[in-house]
Amino acid sequence: MPNHPNPITVVRLGYRIGRDPRINTHLGLVARALGADEFLVSGDKNNKMFDTIEQVTKTFGGEFKTNHLESPLKWIKKYKSDDNEGGVNGTVIHLTMYGEDYRKVVNEIPKNKPLAIIVGGAKVPASIYRMAHYNVSVGNQPHSEVAALALFLDKLQDGKSIEQSFPNPILEIIPDIERKNVIDHTKKEVE
Ligand code: SAM
Repeated sequence: MPNHPNPITVVRLGYRIGRDPRINTHLGLVARALGADEFLVSGDKNNKMFDTIEQVTKTFGGEFKTNHLESPLKWIKKYKSDDNEGGVNGTVIHLTMYGEDYRKVVNEIPKNKPLAIIVGGAKVPASIYRMAHYNVSVGNQPHSEVAALALFLDKLQDGKSIEQSFPNPILEIIPDIERKNVIDHTKKEVE
């Protein structure tokens, strides 16, 4: 099974208006396409970015939630806890070039718990490093959060991250070597 058996949440820290919103949108789209269930963004609100991601989900299927996160530190604390008021006893991974090799860490991550993947913004507070169960690097060079997320999600799912199912699409792409082949389910004949 390609999917991590428990829900995966991707958290983007500290979005700032004025920064290129496409990176954030791409982060959300990669999260959705490669097996996450939810995308949360802290910092400045940008509803247009969420609208774009939600439109893709509506068009191409599946269930994917997006939301603004007011306080990531509070959220992480709650996510890790197993209290009865919203705690899920989840595992927290922080993607950072300073962390441990993702190819090693991925084997240690419990499969029987929800997983949150934290992606940094301009400056990541030291508390995030302390609160994460694992600080994980995808190589020790600075590069792109989008690439780091994609490689990590793929390794987590044994190289099968693109094998997700997206039920109830409006548009469904049929791979074709000769032409663009898309089924429009709104135009399907009813027998
Ligand atoms: N400090 C810069 C800025 O002003 O935005 C760059 C931050 S970096 C592009 C944003 C995030 O990408 C990091 O916080 C981390 O989550 C992720 N990232 C970048 N390189 C990484 C690597 N080699 N391994 C894991 N994550 C990485």
